[in-house]
Amino acid sequence: MNNLTADRPTFVSHLECSMTGKIYPADTLHNLSDDGWPLLVRYDLAKLKEALTKETLATRPQDIWRYREFLPVRRTENIVSLGEITTPLISLSGDAPLYVKDESRLPTGSFKARGLVMAVSMAKELGVRKTAMPTNGNAGAALSAYAARAGMESYIFCPSDTPEINMSETGLQGANLFRVNGLINDCGKIVGEGKAATGWFDVSTLKEPYRIEGKKTMGLELAEQFNWELPDAIFYPTGGGTGLIGMWKAFDELEAIGWIGSKRPKMFAVQAEGCAPIVRAYEEGKEHAELWEDAHTVAAGIRVPAAIGDFLILRAVRASGGAAIAVSDAAIEDARATVAGRDGLLLCPEGAATYAAYQLARAKGLVSDTDNTVLFNCATGLKYPMPKAGTSLNRNKAIDYSAMGQN
Ligand SMILES: *Cc1c(COP(=O)(O)O)cnc(C)c1O
Repeated sequence: MNNLTADRPTFVSHLECSMTGKIYPADTLHNLSDDGWPLLVRYDLAKLKEALTKETLATRPQDIWRYREFLPVRRTENIVSLGEITTPLISLSGDAPLYVKDESRLPTGSFKARGLVMAVSMAKELGVRKTAMPTNGNAGAALSAYAARAGMESYIFCPSDTPEINMSETGLQGANLFRVNGLINDCGKIVGEGKAATGWFDVSTLKEPYRIEGKKTMGLELAEQFNWELPDAIFYPTGGGTGLIGMWKAFDELEAIGWIGSKRPKMFAVQAEGCAPIVRAYEEGKEHAELWEDAHTVAAGIRVPAAIGDFLILRAVRASGGAAIAVSDAAIEDARATVAGRDGLLLCPEGAATYAAYQLARAKGLVSDTDNTVLFNCATGLKYPMPKAGTSLNRNKAIDYSAMGQN
């Protein structure tokens, strides 16, 4: 079956090139396929189906490891966990059933933890000592945390204007952090070119097979939370697209074992107007996206000018009957203020982008007031700059209490 002594039921059969279908063995280290495309993990789903029932699943703790049969780690001792809890669905007020999947509660404050706990656990299983990646902030924070816990080195390269909190947390968690005068794709180039000299393992988005598997748990969780009926629409803030691709893969695996039917949510890939390569390719009917020049947006996590899995994002969006939608930074800031002030939920800018895109999609009739819709809040809003608040009060002067609460 495999060259490790498995002490837990896993069903990985092989890896497969997402473009050509060429097969690669599991249980050895891989980055991209020989043809330069992302590798996907494949499972023996017939065996998985025999090994697990929904009833057994229901008795397990509320964390991502409840889905262990769908995950690649073979040996429990290699799991480098910081407590990856099931995240809640928070309803928003309004005329339609609208929920936020609040990923801010995960370790390191973002859903990057889902991907990196899996990538680092697998890296540990396969003997990696040094890891490296480009990041817009949250991925680096998650990698540094899990690498520290696994006793591995991490080398992290981010644009010099990455949110300060991301850089500080990454530094405190023991990473070797480099602030680069460029964008994330420039940082990715540095990682790629340094590999030979340093021997580090490249953990970039979709350039190793296991971050997708971790992000896949968002799809498994949603299916279970909606009682094995998927929601009607999902809005996902899209950078490299790991989560969207991962959820789509989860839905196919669940259908293959008969736990859900063929119905899929409409998948909406949300980007910022200042960096919307996937939206442009979607609108032009292309299979791949071209590099976006001069990328800029307040939503740092989706400032990704080029995504190696662009074709996988576009295929899922099109097959689902969804769309790719761009929103302005002004609409993102407005959405953030609206949801925080009205519903008490402080979204990150990327999460706020999904709310803004949802409004556009409603106006265009792409989703209706009866659609169960899920927005992704991918990180805690506390990591990002916020407008200054408060009115100065002089305690030494008479206070006009009747004038309070009027602004
Ligand atoms: C990384 C990130 C995204 C984009 O996620 P992908 O799966 O890489 O597309 C969105 N929002 C936040 C806050 C992020 O950190």
